[in-house]
Amino acid sequence: MNVPSQTLLIRSARLMDRAGPADILIEAGRIAAIGPGLAAPPAARMIDARDRLATPGLVNAHWHSPMQLSPGTSDRMNHKVFMWENQVDTANRSQEEIYLSAVIGCLQMLKSGTTSVIDHFPEQGFGLDDVATVVRAYADCGMRAVVALRIFDGEYSDIVPPPDRMSDELREALKTGNTLAPRPMRDSLDLVRAAIEKFDRTAGRIRVFPAPSNPVRCSDALLVACQDMAERLDTGVHCHLLETRTQAELAARAYGRTMVEHMEAIGAFSGRWSCAHCNWVSGPEIAIMGRRGAVAVFNPESNLKIGSGIPPIPKLLGAGVPCAVGTDGASTNDNLILQDAMQLVAILHRAGEADRRRWVTVDDAIAMATTGGAKAMLEPELGRLTPGAKADLVLYDLSAPWWVPLNDPAQQFVFGERGGSVDTVIVDGRIVVEQGRALTIDEKAVLAAAKSILPGVRSRNAGVRAIAEAVAALV
Ligand SMILES: [Zn+2]
Repeated sequence: MNVPSQTLLIRSARLMDRAGPADILIEAGRIAAIGPGLAAPPAARMIDARDRLATPGLVNAHWHSPMQLSPGTSDRMNHKVFMWENQVDTANRSQEEIYLSAVIGCLQMLKSGTTSVIDHFPEQGFGLDDVATVVRAYADCGMRAVVALRIFDGEYSDIVPPPDRMSDELREALKTGNTLAPRPMRDSLDLVRAAIEKFDRTAGRIRVFPAPSNPVRCSDALLVACQDMAERLDTGVHCHLLETRTQAELAARAYGRTMVEHMEAIGAFSGRWSCAHCNWVSGPEIAIMGRRGAVAVFNPESNLKIGSGIPPIPKLLGAGVPCAVGTDGASTNDNLILQDAMQLVAILHRAGEADRRRWVTVDDAIAMATTGGAKAMLEPELGRLTPGAKADLVLYDLSAPWWVPLNDPAQQFVFGERGGSVDTVIVDGRIVVEQGRALTIDEKAVLAAAKSILPGVRSRNAGVRAIAEAVAALV
């Protein structure tokens, strides 16, 4: 991406927390000042924002770029079935396929007001060349991103039927076509360390984190090594956590205590961790998360679509756990509209909670999608419109029907608008979307190239297709 960092003066924008319009001055990638009638520095580019709402760019704190070729492929699938079906669509990708899959997701996010993402990438074994490609996708698109490298050294025992229920076909297929066969811990750790050394802080806005796929699929040594690496190299750690009831049961059986109690006991849990889902966390685990400051990342659309559970959001908020939201991948949630996730985290519990004072508020939901996500990315200067903050912001066109009449911008942001009125998107002080059009990527060419990729990937993965069919017959 060649859009340079600019000095920008946004004139007369509406802000959620101000009655009157205000100007926003952006210099060297940061918000330099906010207030009425700011003086324009020489050579500042002016943006007329009358009838525009300025908000911080949203942070999608859990996504999988490899799944972006798979919207519309997995209705009425539970977690076990979807996980294997998804292998057929994501394993053995070419570099071009990895790149396009990430870029079409970036386009969807930027054009709907999301400026940052944590990409839990990929799932199967990978190499440095794959990391280079996905980092290049974010650099080209102009997004802020964490590439969270997904590693594991144990079996995916949560998604295969118990041994006594396995068919002979499945046993046979797993021997030859298992794309999720673990590789030695040392190899994974060496690879992640090399990727961090080579790509972390690319373009000043792309981070690389270690990311255990799911702690229940990892040895204690691997989890501790991720925590140590994060401390040493100043990164976060991203993971899935207790998405399904099966994962909670496996943890209890393996450790004689809950997953989070175990992680804390072995020294592999801290405020550097962000944990996607948290559907099955127990009371003691919630207390640990609050005490340690680990971030819970909710993905309510994904959870509801595949029936994996409902996160105890009011309890986590009540315990002081930092909370964020994500979309999850396109197999379990076919769009990347983060406003949908904000709405669901606000209303998911209302029918079951008689005391309306305990309901999640609109402000809670917005905080999760901005400052909460920023915490998960280890970016304390992100997610707010204040002087000194990183200049990632979005201008929404208030003349669009979703905003008229404008009674309460925050409520209409969470419950009404769905990204369709995004006019201008700025990331790191650079304009990346203008009048609703992406400036950084040739959208037409990317979409044309991505259209016909999937059949080729599927034909490469016949071995894992046999596993997916055998599992689907059993669960
Ligand atoms: Zn996920």
